Order: sequence, then structure tokens, then C-alpha cells
Amino acid sequence: MPEELDPFKIAQEQLDTAAAVMNLDRQAHAILRQPMQTVTVNIPVKMRNGATKTFTGFRVLYNNARGPGKGGIRFHPQESIETVKALSAWMTWKCSLANIPYGGAKGGVICDPKSMNPQELENLSRAYIRALGQFIGPDVDVPAPDVYTTPQIMAWMMDEYSKLKGHNEFGVITGKPVEVWGSEGRFDSTAMGGMYVMREAAKMLKLNIKKSKVAIQGFGNAGAFAFELAAKLGAKVVATSDSHGGVYSSKGLDFEKLKEAKEKTGSVVTYKGGEKITNEELLELDDIDVLIPAALENQITTTNADKIRAKLVLELANGPVTPEADKILFERKVLDLPDFLVNSGGVIVSYFEWAQNRQGYYWTQEEVYKRLDTIITKSFTDTIDAQKKYAQAGKKISPRTAAYVIAVSRVANAMKARGWY
Ligand code: NAD
Repeated sequence: MPEELDPFKIAQEQLDTAAAVMNLDRQAHAILRQPMQTVTVNIPVKMRNGATKTFTGFRVLYNNARGPGKGGIRFHPQESIETVKALSAWMTWKCSLANIPYGGAKGGVICDPKSMNPQELENLSRAYIRALGQFIGPDVDVPAPDVYTTPQIMAWMMDEYSKLKGHNEFGVITGKPVEVWGSEGRFDSTAMGGMYVMREAAKMLKLNIKKSKVAIQGFGNAGAFAFELAAKLGAKVVATSDSHGGVYSSKGLDFEKLKEAKEKTGSVVTYKGGEKITNEELLELDDIDVLIPAALENQITTTNADKIRAKLVLELANGPVTPEADKILFERKVLDLPDFLVNSGGVIVSYFEWAQNRQGYYWTQEEVYKRLDTIITKSFTDTIDAQKKYAQAGKKISPRTAAYVIAVSRVANAMKARGWY
């Protein structure tokens, strides 16, 4: 049978695996296999040439038993309802594992933001909120930025929602610029959270970070900050890449020079002081301790899972390891920590932004990082403890399944307490 690559089917398969391990109630399982609400809108938008163009947009609320929906909005030409559904399921498990008071949701618009000017993007952002205004809100569903959406877009969306309501509603959306009460520390929160997880995992594996070699696939928002922070922790980052390919040097790469190469030429491959490698070669490097996929989904599959040489895989990207590859890595005793643990720093700080907006009281960057550390370190410990508990009972499960068991049981317990089954 060919390997399953449909994101929503993968999300369901991961849930089914956890459900079997934890003997999840049949009725709870049936509720959790599907989103609670799927909304599709067709949005007319005035373009620069004066013509009106219709865009299709989505917002999926996967589950709200533990709190309002939470999840980003993507602007992407290949956006699809199946991807949005999968991402909304993963948001549900991510918020539950972090034990923050949200359910899960996700949104998207099929569009090519790179071909649109700022006015068109603003028109589309405002029209999306007018079309979906009744389905979002600080107590209903709280969007955030995602692929190709920015803090500026969040500010327009918050403004449009506030106009619809007739008063300021800063807490309707997170990832806003600090000028309109975005949180300090939000810009690098995903990578920062990933680094706290790396610190804890290294302790467990007795890996000295200062003597470790790291490879990072992707040099975007998540990957570049992870590079900078890993280097600050003393790790040697020996390889990185982008959509054009990668670079490698056993002596370590220089962050500032890489940034300069990327800014000047649009790619890290023009960096001088390393050899060019492909994205596939980066994943299979044999002298690295830590591998951080921070670009795309389905990067580690049955084709290359047995060639991964790192001891620790930190999934900073969403869905970089397929379920079949997950099994192979687990059998090979590679510690592969799942996306919804490793990259939860972004949504945790989004939660802080929402909490600050609702209190009207704002925290320093240091306070934000400290609270992020506490929450994500607890998620890591909960995951490893659950894995050990099952191992003692004779069931060997991967960290991903252990994290699923925690997340799913919290949502199922909330649904039970509310009388949904
Ligand atoms: P981004 O667009 O800023 O960066 C993506 C990077 O991947 C770029 O360097 C791009 O060149 C590279 N890339 C694209 N195609 C590639 C290919 N074929 N091979 C190798 N590299 C390729 O996006 P981002 O915000 O950094 O997100 C990256 C991943 O992290 C995504 O899976 C995203 O869902 C996940 N994530 C990001 C955040 C966040 O806060 N940014 C939060 C949670 C999860």
C-alpha cells in the first residue's frame, strides 16, 4: 500500500493509533475524528484594476470542549479544506498538550499573496473577517498568523472585527504588532519553545549541547530563529537549507553571514564557507546529533527514515515525519519529538497575548519567556512520563503517541464532563 500523504487522513490515523492505545471511548473517538464545524465562504474583493475577484476562504473549528477555537489563517494558492481540517485537528492536540484553555481551529484563503499588492491584501483580509465575523471572537475562535499572513494582516483583521462590533476587541486575534497590543516575545516564540524542548531532551539523552552538531532544514521564521538560538546555546549548526538547497560545513556555519547571503541573493546556498548540499542530503548527514526539520511536511518518509543519523529529531515544522517513518525512527531508537510539542511555543505565546489583551495588563519579554519555559517544559515532561508509564505496563509507544494520549484524554474528559457523550 502506498504511504498515506493526505494530511487529514494522517491526522485521523494518528488519532486512531492513540485511541487504540488508551482504549478511548467509542463515542468520544467518533466525535474527535471529525471537525465540529466547517465554514466555506466565497469573498468578493476589489482588485487594483477595478475588477472584483472572488476568493474562497475557510474556517474550521475542530473542537471547543476546552475553550474557544485557536489557530492560524493561511493565504496560499494550494490551500484546501483537507489541509485546513488536518491543521485544525493538530491545533486541538497542541493546545490540549500545552494545557492552555483553547480548543483547535484553522483558517485559510486560496490566493497568491505574492502577486497581490498591500491594498489588495488589506481588502481581502477585511473581507474575510466580514464574511466570517459571526464565527470568530475572543470567546468563540481566535485566529493568528500562519503561512503568508503577517502581524500587519492581523492588525487589519482585528480592526475590521472591532468595527463590526462597535468597540475595540484586541483579544479577537493574536500575532498582532505590539503597537496594537501584540505580545512581547511573540516573533521568535516558536523557535524559543523548540529550544527549551531541545535543552530538556538533551539532558535526558545526556547530550552536551555545547558539543553537539545541529542541522536545520528551512531558514524561514521558525528555522532562522532556531539557528540563532541554538548557536547562542553553544551548539554548532553545521547545515541549513531553503527551497533552493542547502549548505554544510563541519566547522559550523556563521549565522550573520547566512542572513546576509539570504537577504542579498534570496537563498542560503550562496553562503561562502561551506559546501552545497541538497535538502535530502541535509536530512541524512552522518555527523549530526540533532536534526530540526523547519520547512515542509512529509520530509522524513519510508524512503529515508532508516538513513537518519541524528540521535534527536525536533519537529519544528508541522507534519515533517509521516506515520510510517515515525514507526521506523522509534524502532531505531531515534528520539523524534512531535511537532505539536516542539512547535507549540507560538500558540503558547499567542495565549499569553490573548490573556494580556483581556486583562489589559502587559508583561515584559523576560516574563513571557519564563512562562513559556514553564509550560513547554511541563509538556515535554508529561510526554516522557506518559511514555514511561505505558512502557511499564508493557506497551511501547512513541513520544508522538504518548503526547496524543495526553492531549486526546484531556479533550475527551472535557467532553465527558460537559455531557457530550
Ligand atoms: P517560512 O515561510 O518563514 O519558512 C519556510 C522555510 O522553508 C523557508 O526557508 C523556505 O525557503 C523553506 N523551504 C520551502 N520549500 C522548501 C523545500 N522544498 N525544501 C527545503 N526548504 C524549503 O515558514 P515558517 O513560519 O518558518 O514555517 C516553517 C514550518 O514551521 C511550517 O511547517 C510551519 O507550519 C511550522 N510552524 C511555524 C510556526 C511559526 O511561528 N513560524 C509555528 C508553528 C509551526
